[in-house]
Amino acid sequence: MKIAVCPGSFDPVTNGHVDIFERASSMYDRLIIAVFRNPGKNPLFNMDERVRLLKQATQHIPNVEVDSFSGLLTDFVLQKDSRIIVRGLRALSDFEYEFQRALLIKCVRPEIETVFMMTSSEYSFVSSSGIKELAQFGGDISKLVPPMLYDEITQRCRELAARKTL
Ligand code: ADP
Repeated sequence: MKIAVCPGSFDPVTNGHVDIFERASSMYDRLIIAVFRNPGKNPLFNMDERVRLLKQATQHIPNVEVDSFSGLLTDFVLQKDSRIIVRGLRALSDFEYEFQRALLIKCVRPEIETVFMMTSSEYSFVSSSGIKELAQFGGDISKLVPPMLYDEITQRCRELAARKTL
């Protein structure tokens, strides 16, 4: 059984992420989406909320499950009986970071492979941070996030914007 892990902050999940999940899930028997704690980022949604949003956004994909972790990614991958990490790539700027990360993982755990999937052209500009920025200033994010999450994401971003102006 081929099991792949797709890790990320997913704060929040976007249509770009869902596109990667749909395509990657057709290549593996199981795809585990893993929400991780990124100490460098101050999240808009907490871990439990991000897991819940991801579950809602991937309800239509049968072989996908959502989990969270706060330790080492390599430990999580092995613990799940996987040897494959799937990451999405958008621009050259993603490449720098992803390349370093993949080599670091290879150095620590040579048995784990990182596989990259190129973004679909219609999502190449979509990022969680861009969506948060747009929604905070009242921009329309309806084409960029899963429809069932639109209200919750928009509202949270507006609450954040309101707190900032206090
Ligand atoms: P991280 O904090 O690990 O970068 P993200 O939630 O921002 O987590 O992204 C998770 C993964 O999804 C990363 O591999 C990222 O490059 C990829 N990704 C994000 N947005 C897109 C998109 N629009 N198209 C393809 N891949 C994407």
